[in-house]
Amino acid sequence: MAHGAKGFDAAVSFAGGCQCGAVRYTISGELPSAYACHCGECKKQSASAFSISIPISFARLSILGAPKIFEVTAYSGAVKRCYFCPECGTRLWHRSSASPDSATLKVGTLDDGRELAPQFHLWTSKKQAGILLDPASVKYETQPDDLLELRERMQH
Ligand SMILES: [Zn+2]
Ligand SMILES: [Zn+2]
Repeated sequence: MAHGAKGFDAAVSFAGGCQCGAVRYTISGELPSAYACHCGECKKQSASAFSISIPISFARLSILGAPKIFEVTAYSGAVKRCYFCPECGTRLWHRSSASPDSATLKVGTLDDGRELAPQFHLWTSKKQAGILLDPASVKYETQPDDLLELRERMQH
């Protein structure tokens, strides 16, 4: 499977969902590249050392179940809507007022997302001790000013 391949293939899809199964989703087409974020917000939302996400067009997401939403103001000042399972609390995806047609899907919720290596790392200045990053990946101590454009180039 060629992750990161450009173009849309409706015959290909990827399934995922929350830990308890009350919310399930399918993404149609190939997956874009992933990125990781080591900021304090991502530690909280993942309850772990960092988040790993893919930016996708929201139209590609078919959802079964009814995720709950809470809103938070992002570092950029945009309002981020965070979708999570009301039963088990798993964070599933985010949508931002800065990019309303997109979703930032949490890779850990894919049934099999292990082939998705993060292409870049944000907020390495906040990185958890003992987490070693691929030397070939691009690293930002905070985040680039053109993050929104970068994400839009990644998704298809
Ligand atoms: Zn659940
Ligand atoms: Zn973050």
